Amino acid sequence: MNSEKAPALFPSILKMKCPNCRKGNMYTNKSIFPLGSMLHMPEKCPECGQIMELEPGFYYGTGYVSYGLTVALLATVFVAYWVLMGLSYLDNSIFIALSVAVGICLALQPWIMRISRVLYLYMFVRYGKGHKEK
Ligand SMILES: [Zn+2]
Repeated sequence: MNSEKAPALFPSILKMKCPNCRKGNMYTNKSIFPLGSMLHMPEKCPECGQIMELEPGFYYGTGYVSYGLTVALLATVFVAYWVLMGLSYLDNSIFIALSVAVGICLALQPWIMRISRVLYLYMFVRYGKGHKEK
């Protein structure tokens, strides 16, 4: 068996590395810019040959992941605003807090879309047990 220690799971997800080897990049571009190609992925992992799109339309399911992440982020920002700035019905603070939360979610949407695909592929591919040739 492979005695090499696996790179840690969470840093690999955050760095958007291939789930099979945790070394190759899952995206062609390192950052979300240019936005037009932020979701471009290589067909296969440059390091280990892991197929990035397991079947046609594989990434349609990521809509649920990004929805979940967006809701969680909205709730987190809203609660953080509540704790830090305070909320009251007597003024517009609830609307301001909501606007701030929605604004942050919109601003992070490109990143959420990318990390959703990463999380989705990690659900199907275990370290060292990837899907290579069909
Ligand atoms: Zn790989």
